[in-house]
Amino acid sequence: MTITSRWTAPIPRCSLQQWIFESSDGPLPDTKAFLDPENPETNFLKFHDYRLLSKRVALGLQKAGLNHGDRVLLFSGNNLFFPSVFLGVLMAGGIFTGANPTFVPRELAYQLRDSEATFLIAAEAALETALEAAKDIGFPRDRIYVFGGKTAPAPEVARSPNPGPGANGRVEGVRHWTELLAGNAAEAAGWSWTEPTDPIDTTCCLNYSSGTTGVPKGVEISHYSYVANGVGVEFTNNLDPDTEEKRERARGLCFLPLYHAYGQTYFVANLPHLRIPVYIMPSFDLVKMLEYIQRFRITSLMSVPPIIVLLVKHPLTKNYDLSSIESLGSGAAPLGREVSDEAEKLFANPDVVLRQGWGMTEITCTGTSWDPAYRESSIGVGEMMPNCKGRLVALDGKTLITKAGERGELWVTGPTLMRRYWRKPEATDDTISTDSDGTRWLKTGDIAYVEEYRPGGIFHVVDRLKELIKVKGNQVAPAELEAVLLENPDVADVAVIGVTVKGEELPRAYVVRDPKSKATGKDIAKWMESKVARYKHLKGGVVFTDAIPKNPSGKILRKQLRERAEKEIGDS
Ligand code: AMP
Repeated sequence: MTITSRWTAPIPRCSLQQWIFESSDGPLPDTKAFLDPENPETNFLKFHDYRLLSKRVALGLQKAGLNHGDRVLLFSGNNLFFPSVFLGVLMAGGIFTGANPTFVPRELAYQLRDSEATFLIAAEAALETALEAAKDIGFPRDRIYVFGGKTAPAPEVARSPNPGPGANGRVEGVRHWTELLAGNAAEAAGWSWTEPTDPIDTTCCLNYSSGTTGVPKGVEISHYSYVANGVGVEFTNNLDPDTEEKRERARGLCFLPLYHAYGQTYFVANLPHLRIPVYIMPSFDLVKMLEYIQRFRITSLMSVPPIIVLLVKHPLTKNYDLSSIESLGSGAAPLGREVSDEAEKLFANPDVVLRQGWGMTEITCTGTSWDPAYRESSIGVGEMMPNCKGRLVALDGKTLITKAGERGELWVTGPTLMRRYWRKPEATDDTISTDSDGTRWLKTGDIAYVEEYRPGGIFHVVDRLKELIKVKGNQVAPAELEAVLLENPDVADVAVIGVTVKGEELPRAYVVRDPKSKATGKDIAKWMESKVARYKHLKGGVVFTDAIPKNPSGKILRKQLRERAEKEIGDS
């Protein structure tokens, strides 16, 4: 049986930039959109700066040769200018793809090659990796730009025809990103982007996800889906302040990475659409986060379970005044009831309810959320987003579950559903099931149940059918780690699974050692550290085994390994 949302909400058929700014030249409030929390008085972008800087990026990219549908890869942590690069790419008619700035060259090279990006913009701190990755795949150096600098370019960059400080020319022979903007401020002010002919058929970004199986894939999200996600999130999360007073005090704090759908959809699109200022942190830091909440009277906190756990457990939390917080969200990974209750107690305001949402890159971002009027005792992930539907399918992949509380694989459909995996038709067909009436359902690979079969029924996500491991909210694809481990001469065969140690998911490798090898588990874990980003390290252990359990067609029987790991971890 299908569970519909209780809500339908109209979705404008326009580009994401049109939805955020309403027009390319109409009035915008003379208030701040983004602020650097370290220097908020001098480093900020007002709303018209945000739009103008994005238009300047768009014009610059077009002049540098970007064609319609070309991909631009941004390899950077958060900064004030990240959202303008994102929107600039879209305004130029391009497709944005962001990569985790802690990637090693091999990981970046994979995304560069897979997305066939024609421009690479890399943070100065990540430039060495970017250059190595580019060299490995023959990516032209004249299409690489350095983002930021030792000191980020000042906000004047948005207004003045002069690219401003930070445009310190060439870094190691590579151009600075402000060269894209040089001298085009006046021209950009009078320039308008061209609206896509059909926002449903026009991809705006490729966020990478491994989905239910295999290696990371580019998830094609259309302008329409992105807008639909924004509309849905604002509707159910009641993000739009309903009084002038609330609007005046509304402030967001962004420490979630902007290359991931969660941070990106909230802070590049939703809060700016609502004209709510956002303090952008380069990355997460607990003490700084607490300081900023207190100092700037942050009202809305979008978070992930490991951060909520830290907030609850860290002795420093109680030293800070968190009374400004009005809404608190958690997503991207499971959160337990106990932690959720503890978290709510941290805030002076009894109306602060921790709203857990479930989402997935393949549905733009958010799949379920809570209606604020709903103060259930349940710790589920809430109800389907407006315009979306969910169903639970038994593990035979066919039988629809109709009984409350019975578990099955969660399938979802709605306007936020990805168009397809970038140039991977087989993976797309394996992941999307199309009904006879043409409805496309995403097989999420998550196991869930619903409390009651009714419109707006509350879902609980309880387990994962898919291979994916989530380390502090970051995706780790076992298939990717297995491919890397097989390059090690000590490894004859391998399987990677996720294990939970002290409430945290970690990757664990079962290795069949080459008969000639004397390597220890530690040697293999150490070797891996030079091959993949830190969050993919084998912190869940390396265990030697005689054989990897597989079915007759060679598919790894991960469930068996998970059961074995549970015993081993329980015994240790
Ligand atoms: P991503 O595409 O990186 O956002 O990862 C999506 C996956 O994260 C989902 O398919 C789930 O396995 C997991 N996930 C996201 N939100 C939740 C949640 N609230 N509870 C449990 N798992 C979640």
